[in-house]
Amino acid sequence: MKILVINCGSSSLKFQLIDTVSEALIAKGLCERIGIDGSRLVYTPAGGEKQITEVEMQDHTQAIKQMLEALTGENAGVVKSLDEIGAVGHRIVHGGDKFASSTLITDEVISAIESCNELAPLHNPANLLGIAACQELMPGTPMVAVFDTAFHQTMPEEAYLYGIPYEYYKKYRVRRYGFHGTSHSFVSARTAEVLGEKYEDLKIIVCHLGNGASISAVKNGKCVDTSMGLTPLEGLIMGTRSGDIDPAIVEFLAHKEKLSIDEIMNILNKQSGVLGLSDGFSSDFRDIEDAFEAGNEDCVRALKAFALRVVKYIGAYTAEMGGVDAISFTAGVGENSPILRRMICAYLGIELDEEKNTKRGEDVVISVPGSVSKVLVVPTNEELAIARETLALVK
Ligand code: AMP
Repeated sequence: MKILVINCGSSSLKFQLIDTVSEALIAKGLCERIGIDGSRLVYTPAGGEKQITEVEMQDHTQAIKQMLEALTGENAGVVKSLDEIGAVGHRIVHGGDKFASSTLITDEVISAIESCNELAPLHNPANLLGIAACQELMPGTPMVAVFDTAFHQTMPEEAYLYGIPYEYYKKYRVRRYGFHGTSHSFVSARTAEVLGEKYEDLKIIVCHLGNGASISAVKNGKCVDTSMGLTPLEGLIMGTRSGDIDPAIVEFLAHKEKLSIDEIMNILNKQSGVLGLSDGFSSDFRDIEDAFEAGNEDCVRALKAFALRVVKYIGAYTAEMGGVDAISFTAGVGENSPILRRMICAYLGIELDEEKNTKRGEDVVISVPGSVSKVLVVPTNEELAIARETLALVK
């Protein structure tokens, strides 16, 4: 079967068409600047040239129409008709505590996703626009919702509750949810496969280090803790997000700088992380690393703080699970940055095979043989994970 995977943001839409038998990518693309002047479609059939088409896309329905025309087009199309697309898998950011697994999309499911909108006001409404547009343009094609939060729903109460009045959990469901769940699930399961061990027997820590970064503890095949919280702001230091801070800083800065809560939240989400720590140098880890190697003090400070925060979480999760068999690095930074992996593992006292540590784009154990805890690089593939989940539900 061919499955279309859609990740719909407020003004952009990423898509991949995947063959579920070979698990190969058939085509991928991106609609940018939806509803904004200068919108365009970037489309790449597997093995073919990237095509960029400037085309007006006033809303998500028009964007999906352009995507479907590209997939069926005469020149670079990859399917003869839309009937060849067996199902659509939608990435949904927040499923609250309503969804512990992926689900076929029905009217009730759409209402339940809507009820989580206030937990992810930037993401969920956009995800729903993608679903509505597909329902309009591909009527009758089964659709599945795959949630970023679902994998983390197995966390025990003591891991997901905050130390604030319990009343706010009961009234508003204020608790840790965690994100990047599809990636944490995919990478932890793959870690067991690469090691040739049973997933259910292992204690695994997954470090999803990208522009957004999170870490999770997966014990016996189930997530027991994760670093992102009610929102993706908590936990690790990220590209532009602060991660953990003393909550009293919000009030302190509001008074000192005469800022509103919204302005402070904007600073914590968009001007903090390695961007803020490097005194505005860059939020991009490649830039930070290049400057780090050249001895730029701002970037040395930012990268060291980033690495230490990861180390603290690895320590906490190792204690929480009573040990760790494997630590897996994934996502843009985790997969591509030998320097950061070296900095983190140096703290942990784990020796790396430096030749393996420089490999890219493949599953690889980078710790030296005999290491008590193994360290791996496992490229994530959230789209493939969504396609697998979708297939399992529509079969
Ligand atoms: P993601 O959010 O997973 O797409 O990751 C994006 C981040 O990965 C960006 O900050 C990139 O700079 C970073 N990244 C990609 N390639 C490299 C690399 N070779 N070395 C360091 N960071 C990288």
